[in-house]
Amino acid sequence: MTSTKKIAVLPGDGVGTEVTDAALRVMQVVGEQNGIQFELEKHLIGGASLDEYGIPIRDDVIEGCKAADAVLLGAVGGPKWDNNPDDKRPEVALLTLRKRLELFTNLRPIKVYDALAESSSLKLENVQGVDILVVRELTGGIYFGRPRFTEELHNDRRSVDTMEYKASEVSRIARVAFDAAKSRSQKVTSVDKANILATSQLWRNTVETVAGEYQDVEFENMLVDNCAMQLVRNPKQFDVILTTNMFGDILSDEASMLTGSIGMLPSASLGKGTAMYEPVHGSAPDIAGKNIANPLATIASVAMMFRFSFDLDNAAEAIERSIGKVLNAGVRTADLTDSDDAVSTDKMTETIIGELETITV
Ligand code: NAD
Repeated sequence: MTSTKKIAVLPGDGVGTEVTDAALRVMQVVGEQNGIQFELEKHLIGGASLDEYGIPIRDDVIEGCKAADAVLLGAVGGPKWDNNPDDKRPEVALLTLRKRLELFTNLRPIKVYDALAESSSLKLENVQGVDILVVRELTGGIYFGRPRFTEELHNDRRSVDTMEYKASEVSRIARVAFDAAKSRSQKVTSVDKANILATSQLWRNTVETVAGEYQDVEFENMLVDNCAMQLVRNPKQFDVILTTNMFGDILSDEASMLTGSIGMLPSASLGKGTAMYEPVHGSAPDIAGKNIANPLATIASVAMMFRFSFDLDNAAEAIERSIGKVLNAGVRTADLTDSDDAVSTDKMTETIIGELETITV
């Protein structure tokens, strides 16, 4: 029986449009294999929306996302809009979507494919077999706290951001991390800056209380500066990393280098509203429009969509296995190799599709 799923597609800017097109091609193939038809609704967000409508995201786009079964997003931003005033920055589209869809959980799996272990800037023995899940809180912390302003002083200027967390926000995301650990290697590392920050002290106390409900899961606290160091010293010590909005943003970019390239990292944002899937990377203006971006992060984000939004683990695994096989066969986009036989975005996508078509369902 065929079912129809409505997907809100938000390609955004720069390579966002290229990797989204690639991921949609893969999504269609896997959909056909699993009896799913897709109804796509494309919308402009970020810089593209600013150019067309003068705002980073329109209300009817948010309503379209709310009414969809899943959201697929590329990336937003670029130098053209870097000097825009606060409310006219492309990133406002992301923050608005996360808040309005109440997507408080950001899952960022950091898995080193065997074939890419040598592409990492770290020693092979340190990265081979790394499999970390970063559980990042997504709708609180310093990215959303108020007041937030810049003011002119006598002979100076002053800016203020506010970091705030409620215990209820912390326990909600902590439970996601502990539940995830149960089906993995049963370990949670909660990352904070409790030696300095009041919000981190609240974070630590609250997470420790939740940890008490999960006696089978090993639990530790770690300061963010130490975690940044441990990620490059001995990343295999981690299973689930639970952390705040800002620390998760920074640590997962750092961890991306374990995998060889930020072009490899998918993510899922889950919560109360429609789930959203997007690569961890940005709009990469330096390589945009050249058909050389690595589409695998977005393709792997589609795998997460099949897993979390459509409950089709087999389809998700088929995509992930295909990525592994294609990498094992030596196919590389430019970010994954120094040699001149790098393939284009299109070629990588076609090779993944070719691999998927060999799978009998
Ligand atoms: P970036 O992730 O766009 O790029 C960092 C580096 O990684 C660049 O060298 C880029 O070429 C490379 N890279 C990124 N994605 C790649 C891919 N798929 N394949 C190959 N190489 C890839 O980060 P940045 O340069 O700091 O930011 C560029 C713009 O993106 C900025 O406007 C920033 O605000 C925005 N940004 C958006 C998001 C998002 O939409 N979620 C996230 C981060 C940054």
